[in-house]
Amino acid sequence: MLIGGAFVFGALIGSFLNVVIYRLPLMMQRAWDDELLLHQHGDDPDYELPKRERFNLLVPRSRCGQCGHVITALENIPVVSWIALRGRCSACKSPISARYPLVETATAVLFALCAWTFGGTATFLFALIFVAALVVLTGIDLDTQLLPDQINLPLLWLGLIANIAGNFTRLPDAVIGAAAGYLVLWSVYWLYKLATGREGMGYGDFKLLAAIGAWFGWQVLPKVLLVSALVGAVIGISQIVFRGKDRQTAIAFGPYLAIAGLLALFAGDLMKL
Ligand SMILES: [Zn+2]
Repeated sequence: MLIGGAFVFGALIGSFLNVVIYRLPLMMQRAWDDELLLHQHGDDPDYELPKRERFNLLVPRSRCGQCGHVITALENIPVVSWIALRGRCSACKSPISARYPLVETATAVLFALCAWTFGGTATFLFALIFVAALVVLTGIDLDTQLLPDQINLPLLWLGLIANIAGNFTRLPDAVIGAAAGYLVLWSVYWLYKLATGREGMGYGDFKLLAAIGAWFGWQVLPKVLLVSALVGAVIGISQIVFRGKDRQTAIAFGPYLAIAGLLALFAGDLMKL
């Protein structure tokens, strides 16, 4: 019952996560544009920002990116609608990205896995939030090479809160994990920058590793780094070999940290020192 319920609930949440992945970077872009405008008109006390249509995670309704057709409730059933529509907009027949059903399916499977691993406990509820945050971070990092503070920082706090009651690890291990996670990648970043003059990763990566440390304790950090570096190397090298991708292109590290974070969630004993 719980596992099946978690699967269906996960598909519904996955549908919302698609919206977050698409809209949060656009909302951030808007906020930056506004800040820049305010800065440019800093000496004009009467300056007002141009009026624009409201745009957040809830409004406006989702539309087809090609023709503007508003997605009906019936067309918005996770996975099912996409298959029924054969991956095309009902109005203009232009293709709808397979990423939508993929994110919904991934979230459903991960939620079911949480139910299977943790049963009906408080730990289970925390695990659902952790999984949802990682799905969003992965999607946004792949699209924009950003790991937004709006997700990273609450994730870190929530990990510490979950461990007040020791849901995943002892609180002292969680606090040290958060600090150590940040410091390790911060050091790698500066060593790499001093050695090569280039930036190998972003601050978002430090914060995500700090969050993973806050959830599962410092003991998981070495293997989390090892796994994400290995997965990153395999995927990075195959992209260079098979797709002729330039080796200078920055590679999003967030998705690999996310994969290692999920391993820490579901196979904690394996990932600990
Ligand atoms: Zn359309």
